[in-house]
Amino acid sequence: MLFSYRSAVRIGLVYLLVSIVWIQLSQQLLTNIFDEPMELIHWQVVRGYVWVSLSAVVIFLLCARFARVSLVQQPLQDSRDRLRQAAAVFDCTREGVLVTDVQGLIVHVNRAFIEITGYRREDVLGCRPSLFKSGRHSASFYLKMFECLERSDEWSGEIWNRRKSGEIYPQWQTIRVIKDDQGQVTHYVAVFSDISAIKHSEHELSHLAHHDPLTNLPNRLLFTDRAEQALASAQIHKRGCALLLLDLDHFKIVNDSLGHNVGDQLLKVVGERLQGLFGRGVTLARLGGDEFAVLAESCPQVVQAAAMAQQIIDSMKEPFVFDGHQLFISASIGISLFPSDALSAEQLLRNADSALFKAKSTGRESYALYTEELTAHAQNRIEIANELRRALDQQELRVYYQPVHDLQTSRLVGLEALVRWQHPERGLVPPAEFIPIAERTGLIADIDAWVMDQACRQMCRWLAEGKGLAFLAVNISSRLFARQELYGQVARVLHDTGLDPAKLELEVTESAVMDDPESALEQLHRLRELGISLAIDDFGTGYSSLLRLKRLPVQKLKIDQGFVAGLPWDEDDAAIARMVIALAQSMGMQVHAEGIEQEEQARFLLEHQCDLGQGYWFGRPMPAAEIDWNGAPPIR
Ligand code: C2E
Ligand code: MG
Ligand code: MG
Repeated sequence: MLFSYRSAVRIGLVYLLVSIVWIQLSQQLLTNIFDEPMELIHWQVVRGYVWVSLSAVVIFLLCARFARVSLVQQPLQDSRDRLRQAAAVFDCTREGVLVTDVQGLIVHVNRAFIEITGYRREDVLGCRPSLFKSGRHSASFYLKMFECLERSDEWSGEIWNRRKSGEIYPQWQTIRVIKDDQGQVTHYVAVFSDISAIKHSEHELSHLAHHDPLTNLPNRLLFTDRAEQALASAQIHKRGCALLLLDLDHFKIVNDSLGHNVGDQLLKVVGERLQGLFGRGVTLARLGGDEFAVLAESCPQVVQAAAMAQQIIDSMKEPFVFDGHQLFISASIGISLFPSDALSAEQLLRNADSALFKAKSTGRESYALYTEELTAHAQNRIEIANELRRALDQQELRVYYQPVHDLQTSRLVGLEALVRWQHPERGLVPPAEFIPIAERTGLIADIDAWVMDQACRQMCRWLAEGKGLAFLAVNISSRLFARQELYGQVARVLHDTGLDPAKLELEVTESAVMDDPESALEQLHRLRELGISLAIDDFGTGYSSLLRLKRLPVQKLKIDQGFVAGLPWDEDDAAIARMVIALAQSMGMQVHAEGIEQEEQARFLLEHQCDLGQGYWFGRPMPAAEIDWNGAPPIR
């Protein structure tokens, strides 16, 4: 308990006050009640005061002595407590603590120090902290540390030290200089924590941020970074580099037909195979989806880049085997070179992408080199995209119609609506030049809706004129087909134009249907509910699953003109045409051949029971007013 001088004075004063009151009261009492003589009373009062004063002094002295004892003992008690507390903290803290004397010899370490470093107390006492040096830091690092200690009595920072096991690990360390009252250094205290776990998670985070989690290959971020570094070094050493952009052909089909799990596995093994192809100086990355990029840091000539691309394509020929699956997949590659094609990584990637686009469009499983022309093409595409918007507004689009004949009777039974662009300067632009651009920019929805509306109105007019047409076919872009609003759009056109739904046929391409078979199935069923009929266009160019084909509510297959071109002499084309006809018949569908340019082709198809024919031999696509209603001559 704390007992101070102030308490002693307070007790003495209280005693004095109480006694004076008591003396005063007893004086009153003696005068009033007992009627004592005044001299006697006076004498007693004086005696009382003397007595009270003396005893107050004694009480004060006694209290003061007691206070002094307690005041002297208190600091001793306090410092003992504090030492105990400090010792507890010293031992219990999770930070390692090391104390050296002024000579730098270790005089104390705590329990955490032992746990972190693996050293026992007796191993280190009397030694210098240089015992733990990792060798990772230069002499100037330690020099700066001591300079800082001298200047500000404290240093903190990250330092790599070595455990007893030899393992090097990072610490966050604070060193403080301890001085006595005279300002003389007596000790150094170092407090540190092991930050290897933090470092590890930092490293993991950085790895995650820079790598693709599926293949563990560098991602786009790291790839671009490495590419920039490689280009900078190539610039200095006057070296050429090559960037190859690789895209797997029809990967979506694998995902859709076998599931994303198998798709992921395939990407993984493709990544592994590609990695096995290249050694040092080549960076492989997965940029996303089924797109990989390869950067060759030293590639002086085009031929080397082309050879690399061919090596990749050839490596894909072996099947990929995993989880009981055996899969074949090919790749298309776009190549762009430094410094001839571009000077920055970003531009190289863009150019390689243009080249990849070319490789894909000229047939898959091939590579293409970037050229200036490709940029011109890309610019042209941008120009067309801008102009297309205007074309729609200013009604520059036209609908042409191509006759479809019954092969048995040669009668004109239907028409296919095909869009054209009457460009003010370019003339009549075919759809192949603007439909892909319209698909990319999203304008295709407006174009297809406009064509459908125009064609249905025209069909109503023809029917009203008594033309015996069984159907009018309209093409639907795969982009539009994937969208839910198609149903509403068709219903609206039928309602607005009043066309009998049975007379309208929608043509969707095989790839549009097979890219997302489940949603296609649902979409086609809904469209069928409107009473219209459905045809699969360009059949044979995609990857149809027969099982899925059987489930589709489709009434017609259109053999792609690519297979009609070689008829009747090309054996492969003939076999395919026969097979598609047999397939359609077995499924209760009509078969329609397009691209018939010669009578022999028409005859072959007729002989093999193909139902309908369309092509230049019967008539070219033309404006509504120019259609020849007299029909075609019979096939001989
Ligand atoms: P498609 O639907 O397969 O149309 C048949 C294409 O073959 C038409 O080309 C037609 O002119 C052409 N063709 C017809 N007979 C012959 C022939 O005997 N020989 C040759 N070599 N070609 C013949 P077009 O009009 O250039 O259309 C190309 C493609 O553009 C169409 O292929 C279709 O996929 C698409 N397309 C056309 N109009 C539209 C449209 O309004 N909307 C959408 N989304 N696509 C359209
Ligand atoms: Mg078509
Ligand atoms: Mg077609």
